[in-house]
Amino acid sequence: MNLRTRLSDLPHHFQLIVIGGGITGAGIVAEAARRGLRALLVERNDFASGTSSWSSKLVHGGLRYLAGGHWRLTLESVRERNRLLRERAGLVELQPFLMPVYRDSRPGLRTLRTGLAVYDLMGGQWRSRALSARRALALEPGLRRDGLIGAVAYDDARTDDARLTLQLIFEAAAAGAQCLNYVAALALLRQGERVVGVRLRDAEDGSECELGADVVINAVGATRDAFEGAAVGAPLLRPLRGSHLIFPLNKLPVRRAVSWLHPRDRRPVFVYPWLGVALCGTTDVDQAADLEPHISEAEADYLIEALAHQFPLAGLQLADAQASYAGVRPIVAGGGGDPSAESRESALWQAPGYVGITGGKLTTFRLTAQHVLRAAVAQSPALAEAERTAQPTHPEMPSPATQCAAWIAAQPADERVSLGGTPYSCAALRWSARHEQVRHLDDLLMRRSRLSLLLPQGGAELLDDLASICQEELGWDAARWQQECAHYRQLWQRLHAIGE
Ligand SMILES: Cc1cc2nc3c(=O)[nH]c(=O)nc-3n(C[C@H](O)[C@H](O)[C@H](O)COP(=O)(O)OP(=O)(O)OC[C@H]3O[C@@H](n4cnc5c(N)ncnc54)[C@H](O)[C@@H]3O)c2cc1C
Repeated sequence: MNLRTRLSDLPHHFQLIVIGGGITGAGIVAEAARRGLRALLVERNDFASGTSSWSSKLVHGGLRYLAGGHWRLTLESVRERNRLLRERAGLVELQPFLMPVYRDSRPGLRTLRTGLAVYDLMGGQWRSRALSARRALALEPGLRRDGLIGAVAYDDARTDDARLTLQLIFEAAAAGAQCLNYVAALALLRQGERVVGVRLRDAEDGSECELGADVVINAVGATRDAFEGAAVGAPLLRPLRGSHLIFPLNKLPVRRAVSWLHPRDRRPVFVYPWLGVALCGTTDVDQAADLEPHISEAEADYLIEALAHQFPLAGLQLADAQASYAGVRPIVAGGGGDPSAESRESALWQAPGYVGITGGKLTTFRLTAQHVLRAAVAQSPALAEAERTAQPTHPEMPSPATQCAAWIAAQPADERVSLGGTPYSCAALRWSARHEQVRHLDDLLMRRSRLSLLLPQGGAELLDDLASICQEELGWDAARWQQECAHYRQLWQRLHAIGE
């Protein structure tokens, strides 16, 4: 059965303790484990349950950051995108984009082509091209035709953000790191000025413990007051919410990503096919402190207005959307009024024995991790020495993702049948329940799989089919199953329902 390490079984001291199991913490612990450091990662909810499962799921350079003059961010992101396409093929996939151009478009075709030429140059490959209006319509017949004079086509990449985060965590665990979900950091431990460890609480059994560390890393993203002392030295954050709508592909049959400027405020918006649904985003609005992020009526109207403008033939109504989701960007406050003008760069701060990191992008997690580890090693001679003498790990075992694929392929055919036309099967969910630290039903349906977004009502009709998997793999009795189902339905309503 799926047992998790108890706090009392952990060693009393680690070289690194990383707080926060989003992409930032996951990237740091993966890099630390690869270097042979003894690291612990704790996440107070499930891994990737914060912003890292609610992004737009693009692995991209960010064309609009280029327009804003953020050359370094764009260059780094484009290079990381290319690396991820090579190293995580299957999880990070090429995503063709189309940007339609109209008679009155600003920027016009020539400026867009110049911008894309720079983008291509940064990526080291000539991927973009200009298309005639006829060719653009052949590729995307649903585009608004009125005034269309052509389009530019270019490539970026997409991923499953939660799975990317989980994959890093499970790889770190396979390389020797301890990674625990449902364990919260409560407070930093200090000796004089120096941070020397953390106090932790296990949400499952309520147990608490104090563990020492050469360096403690705060990677809690947009969470305010995450633990006692977290804010010391931290930059002021401006949490910005980005919301998305999800449609069945038959309502919005896009074949590639289409990106355009919103007719109201000229902010870039997009829609693209993701795991069999059409994903449309996004907004950029201030998020009230520590409220659960949920799309507002105004944001939903804003996205519908954008879609009606660009895809008039689809005649989309809000009622056509099957789900929504919203994430909070941990943006470092720049003091400006316009949310979309705030920088997406990450910010690092430190105190003796302590490094904090926030902001940044999913795409650049590896660079962020290297940056943080450089700061951590500079903080602590013990860590520097440990890194010098540690044996970097070269796992001889196949990676957890490879093992999973091989195991699923060996399961009986009826276990491998797609659930509701999605990429998931009972066999895939059984693997997750058995090997991927699933503690609750929402872990399985919202992050190990993305059934919560891909099926109407979050897959409520499928729940009965999953009972036996959870009971066999997780040891849940009938009462626990009912409790988990009720909790999942409520959570789905709070996070994903439209018009609540
Ligand atoms: C709407 C939106 C769209 C985006 N789209 C893209 C995109 O397309 N491409 C891209 O590259 N980037 C994108 N981003 C940016 C990217 O998603 C974020 O920068 C990234 O996910 C932040 O990850 P994180 O690990 O820093 O934060 P999080 O994912 O929020 O992780 C922090 C974790 O810390 C945990 N935590 C908090 N307090 C404690 C505690 N006391 N103890 C233990 N754990 C704790 C939280 O539960 C949380 O899971 C987008 C962001 C948003 C909001």
